[in-house]
Amino acid sequence: MAVGDDIWAHWLERLYNLRREKRDGHERPHKPVLLLSILDLLDRSLIVANEIPLSEELVATFKRYFAVVREANDQPSIEIPFYFLGGDKFWQVMPAGGGGPLYREGFAAGAPGVGQLRKDRVAGHFDVGLWALLSDPLARHQVREALIARYFPERREQLAALVATTCQVPVAEALREEPPEAKRDAAFRRTILEVYDYRCAACGIRVLLEQAMSLVEAAHLIPFGMSRNDKPTNGVALCPNHHWAMDRHLIAPCPDRQRRAGVWRVNQKRLDDRIEGQRELVALEGRAVIPPSEENFYPDIGGLRWREEHLTVTY
Ligand SMILES: [Zn+2]
Repeated sequence: MAVGDDIWAHWLERLYNLRREKRDGHERPHKPVLLLSILDLLDRSLIVANEIPLSEELVATFKRYFAVVREANDQPSIEIPFYFLGGDKFWQVMPAGGGGPLYREGFAAGAPGVGQLRKDRVAGHFDVGLWALLSDPLARHQVREALIARYFPERREQLAALVATTCQVPVAEALREEPPEAKRDAAFRRTILEVYDYRCAACGIRVLLEQAMSLVEAAHLIPFGMSRNDKPTNGVALCPNHHWAMDRHLIAPCPDRQRRAGVWRVNQKRLDDRIEGQRELVALEGRAVIPPSEENFYPDIGGLRWREEHLTVTY
């Protein structure tokens, strides 16, 4: 993926201007260290989705980087940047159980502790544009270089050595050839997005910056791990919200006699239209699946049946 100059410039500026607390004459290193740690885990495929938990591995990596750049009384408390990065407006921390973003502007209380964040299964989510950028190995490499140059120029060599030792796959090698898995994913994604014209098959939202930066994602009807089926008829295009909800069997495209692309059904046992935030999902009930451009790409009946059967399963 070639990242457009304007997109790159936009994110570079945002990443160059992280809001950092100043104490004892120096700016705290926490936020750039958190970002470097996330890049590290992305390189090692320990983060594969835009839903980043406070894993043991993230904490350990954060500590390793922190040890190199810390000054005076800096403490390696990962919960601080994990929470306060929300203030930079490209990162939201959200509990798995719903309830919206945890970080609120001007909210005086400090960051919840690591234990609490884990208990609530809180995950960090990047802005979709930045996530698309970070998903590209070459762009990721450049972001790392930029962060180090901006925040830790005097620690450049030590950090470079650390990157080389912790990342099992050196960037240059990762770039040489895409693994077949990634190629397969990319092909499936490209086809699905094209036949659905970059539109969510549930809500119809269409946000397209450039082909590689569509908001809409490609979702399998029967998961690839089970079906090994990457045909377009085993997929639909969905926005991140509806993709998330379908993956958790809260909503499903189901067979319908009149509408060949199927209709949306909602898991009524688990969703409640009296609860704000669930109302939009419940409102999908009975709505037609927004079909792809050509009939031969319509969702396969077997895939719709699979989704229907799993809608009522309680996980
Ligand atoms: Zn949608």
